[in-house]
Formats: sequence, C-alpha cells, structure tokens
Amino acid sequence: MSSGPGKVVSLIRGKCPRCRKGNVFSHPFYSILNFSEVHDHCPHCGVKLEPEPGFFWGAMYFSYALNVGVSIIAGFSLFFFFNDPDLWVYIMVIILLTLILMPLMTRFSRLLLMYLVAPYRKFDPIAGEPVSESH
Ligand SMILES: [Zn+2]
Repeated sequence: MSSGPGKVVSLIRGKCPRCRKGNVFSHPFYSILNFSEVHDHCPHCGVKLEPEPGFFWGAMYFSYALNVGVSIIAGFSLFFFFNDPDLWVYIMVIILLTLILMPLMTRFSRLLLMYLVAPYRKFDPIAGEPVSESH
C-alpha cells in the first residue's frame, strides 16, 4: 500500500511522521537536558514539527497514560514475581521506573501525539524527496 518504513517502526525510531526519514528530536534520549527537544522543522522534508505553539502540552496526557500503564505492569510484576513485597518497595520501584523512563516516555508521547493528532500525520512518501514545499 505504502512504500518506506512502517508507521510503528518510524514512530519507535523517532522519525518524522510525514517523510519517516528525518529525525524528530535534535538530541539522543540520554541527553539529560535536551532529550525532549524537537526540531523546528523536519531536517529531511522540512515540515513544521510543532504545528502550533504549545502543541506538545497535549503530550502530557499520553505521558500520563503511559506512566499509569508502566506502574500497573510494575505493580503486577512485583506482586506475582516478587511475592508481594512491602508497600514501600512498590512505591520505590514505581518512582524509580518513572524517573528512569521519563525521557523515553516524554519522547514517545510526543511522537504519539504527532503521529495520531497532528495535521501532518498523513504519510507522504514523496515528502522524502528534495522537492521543496512552500506554505
Ligand atoms: Zn519529514
């Protein structure tokens, strides 16, 4: 149906939702201070990656949902595989997981927002070609 890498693969690799070639983020996820920094424009196809100011605030909802999901999985894992430890173990594990996964979650939720909500979400294989688009 469509050429190029699949939507899910592109999302996980942090690629532009339009051309699926350019990187969305300007820094790697382990860059503590800049991990969530998004390019103004896709370095490959030039699409504006933040369609309107404050767009990425919406990513907090995804981030929250992801964190709840991780907490539930962690809770069940502790219960079943670690023989239901004390409450403080649950709390510590969930806090640590949330902190450790924060950069990945933040990036992932921004990508989800871009792929699912943003107006440029439609994959355009031709956008990867060096034909410039003016708007
Ligand atoms: Zn692009």
